[in-house]
Amino acid sequence: MNIPDSSLPRIVVAGGGFAGLELAKALRNKPFQVVLLDKNNHFTFQPLLYR
Ligand SMILES: Cc1cc2nc3c(=O)[nH]c(=O)nc-3n(C[C@H](O)[C@H](O)[C@H](O)COP(=O)(O)OP(=O)(O)OC[C@H]3O[C@@H](n4cnc5c(N)ncnc54)[C@H](O)[C@@H]3O)c2cc1C
Repeated sequence: MNIPDSSLPRIVVAGGGFAGLELAKALRNKPFQVVLLDKNNHFTFQPLLYR
């Protein structure tokens, strides 16, 4: 992984589902380096796909 160096405290969010995305959004513009990890590079709410 190529995580940029930062002097800010790093918060690693494991999982970019509903909880992880909400946490990452809540931390936006806060004095942390937020690293969001997910096994996929996209967010999909599968129950809504059929609609
Ligand atoms: C069929 C169905 C219908 C639903 N309908 C509704 C609804 O109508 N309204 C509602 O409010 N809720 C609904 N829910 C519930 C809602 O989807 C969950 O409560 C919510 O997604 C849980 O959020 P989460 O962040 O904990 O998990 P998730 O949203 O599942 O996110 C988990 C993330 O972790 C990632 N991940 C998992 N394992 C790894 C790994 N080993 N390494 C890296 N990344 C990993 C996944 O890729 C995923 O992005 C439904 C759920 C299901 C299954």
